[in-house]
Amino acid sequence: MKFAAWTRNKEDLKAASSGGIFFELAKGIVSQGGQVAGVIMHGMKLQWNVTDDLDEIKRMRGSKYLWVNPLPAYQKICSTPSRQTLFVGLPCQVFGLKRYIRLKGIADKNITYVSLRCHGVISSKSFYDYIKWVSGIVKEPVTSVKFRKEWEKGAGLSINSANHRIPFFRPKIIKDYIKKRNVAKMCKTCTYDRNASDITLGDFWGCHLALKNRDGTSIMETNTWKGYTLFKSIAHKLHWKFVPRNLNDIPVNSDK
Ligand SMILES: Cc1cc2nc3c(=O)[nH]c(=O)nc-3n(C[C@H](O)[C@H](O)[C@H](O)COP(=O)(O)OP(=O)(O)OC[C@H]3O[C@@H](n4cnc5c(N)ncnc54)[C@H](O)[C@@H]3O)c2cc1C
Ligand code: SF4
Repeated sequence: MKFAAWTRNKEDLKAASSGGIFFELAKGIVSQGGQVAGVIMHGMKLQWNVTDDLDEIKRMRGSKYLWVNPLPAYQKICSTPSRQTLFVGLPCQVFGLKRYIRLKGIADKNITYVSLRCHGVISSKSFYDYIKWVSGIVKEPVTSVKFRKEWEKGAGLSINSANHRIPFFRPKIIKDYIKKRNVAKMCKTCTYDRNASDITLGDFWGCHLALKNRDGTSIMETNTWKGYTLFKSIAHKLHWKFVPRNLNDIPVNSDK
C-alpha cells in the first residue's frame, strides 16, 4: 500500500529530509524496547550507528548523499539478534544486510527493513575534491557539511569551517548529482529492488496537491505485513493519505 504522509510534530518535520517518517518509525521501535540502525555525521566523518538513544537517533535525521560502509551496523545487529531492530538504509544496504544475516545463519524476525528510494550517492572523489576546493576558498579546513532540504532553499549544501558558514544554493556538485554526472560507479548500473524491504520511504515533492504538505511530504510504501503493522502503530502520530490507484503514476522524486 502507498501513502503520502508527514509527521504531526513540527520540529521533527523541520529536521527531516521530507515528511519525518523515519523518526516516527524509530520512536515507535524504541518505545517497544528496540534499537535503530542509521547514519550519523560527526564533523566530516560519516558513520553507521545502532542505538536506542533518541538523541543519537535524532542525529540520523536528514539525507547525506554519500555511501557509508554498513558493515559495523551489520555486525552489531547480528550480535543482538533477539533485539527488535529498525534498519533504515539504501536498497543495496538492505540487500547486503539480508545476505549477511543469511550467511551467519541468524533469523531476522526481529528486524524491520526500511529502504530509502535512491537516486544514487555522490562519489567520494567528487565530494572530497569539492570540499578541498571550498577549503581553498575559505582558506581553512571545512569542519562540517549539511545537505539541505529540497523544499527549504532548493537543493543546496551548507558548509562550515572555523570562521565561515556558507550556504550553497544549487551548487555544481548538487546539479551534477541530480544529473547523475558525479554518482558512484556502482549507482550507474544499479538493479537493487527498493521494495525488497518491509517499508520503502521517499520524498514526495512532485505529488498531487491533494496529497501534499508544503513543509515536506514522504511517500511510504508498506511492502509486508510487518511493515504495515509498524505503520499502523505510529499512524496516529502522522498526517497520512492513501495514494489512490489513479494517482499512482504521478511523478515521485525518484528514478529508482
Ligand atoms: C543517498 C540517498 C539518495 C536518496 N535518493 C532519493 C530519491 O531519489 N528519491 C526519493 O524519493 N528519496 C530519496 N532518498 C530518500 C529521502 O531523501 C529521505 O531519506 C526519505 O524520504 C526519508 O525521509 P524522512 O523525512 O522520513 O526521514 P529523514 O529524517 O530524512 O531520515 C533520514 C534517514 O536516512 C538515513 N540516511 C541518511 N543518509 C544516509 C546514507 N548516506 N546512507 C544510508 N542511510 C542514510 C538515516 O540514517 C535515516 O534513517 C535518498 C536518500 C539518500 C540517503
Ligand atoms: S543507486 Fe543503487 S547502488 Fe547506488 S546507493 Fe542507491 S541502491 Fe546503492
